[in-house]
Amino acid sequence: MSVETDPRSDDLVQPFQIDPFALRGRLVRLGPTVDRILSQHDYPEPVAAILGEAITLAVVLAGALKYEGVFTLQTKSDGPIRLLVADVSTEGAVRGYAQYDSERLEAAWDGNGSSPSVPDLIGSGYIAFTVDQGEHTDRYQGIVEIVGATLAECAQHYFRQSEQIQAGIKLSVGRTGHDGGWRAGGLMLQRVPPEGGYGVIADDFEDGWRRAMVLMSTATPAELVDPDLPPRRLLFRLFHDEGVRVYYTHPLEARCRCSRERIAKILRSFPASDIEEMREEKVTTVTCEFCNTRYEFTSDDLARLAPA
Ligand SMILES: [Zn+2]
Repeated sequence: MSVETDPRSDDLVQPFQIDPFALRGRLVRLGPTVDRILSQHDYPEPVAAILGEAITLAVVLAGALKYEGVFTLQTKSDGPIRLLVADVSTEGAVRGYAQYDSERLEAAWDGNGSSPSVPDLIGSGYIAFTVDQGEHTDRYQGIVEIVGATLAECAQHYFRQSEQIQAGIKLSVGRTGHDGGWRAGGLMLQRVPPEGGYGVIADDFEDGWRRAMVLMSTATPAELVDPDLPPRRLLFRLFHDEGVRVYYTHPLEARCRCSRERIAKILRSFPASDIEEMREEKVTTVTCEFCNTRYEFTSDDLARLAPA
């Protein structure tokens, strides 16, 4: 394994495998991508941080699935942050946004260094995971109650509840870039039963899994987001004794999929009476919640949208 030839150390998914025990994993590193998404919005610090975690979690989980399309993670809950949305396409386009109540947030967060927990910020509710592979295909959706002090714990709860997958997840977000920008890191390790089962060496696999989980737990939040620690070097540091093998990385970038055409399609699905009401204004502005792009529709534009 050569660290020096790693051409890129940010905004990527680095898949890896620990051979003897059939363990698969992914290390996700987000630099300019997550900084751009979080900086597009003027979110208070804890909202930005937890949205950064949600984005990282979406990327980490999406890598575990075989799909062509868009993977979306969405929380809906009764806390100060009532909604978090993060999605990632198979091409590596990432985006996200949050909805929150400023007053309730202020009450939950006193503004000093200590970071509030998921129960304080998000409250009770659920997390939905959706895979959308386009029109005329089945949507896959998994839903789990929000249980845990962190988003990573909530995801692990999901695996225990609804999937036959054993997995460990670590997430870290912080303003640790050299320019003070946001950075995020995620690590997921999952157990993939070998074909034909574990057989007589089941105990070895069990030990291998436990050891790998212990090693994974030694990765510090600072290491996960350290701009000077390339992903492969971190993996080597953690798992070199276990025979870790790395694969080609997948690049990630901050890119929204909104367009005037898409917004028009949404407006077209509104009842005619709603469109009539909007037409009373000279110009109706629709703002994309993901990227804040504003699309303007004049009364005449809206008239042309209306179904004949
Ligand atoms: Zn957009």
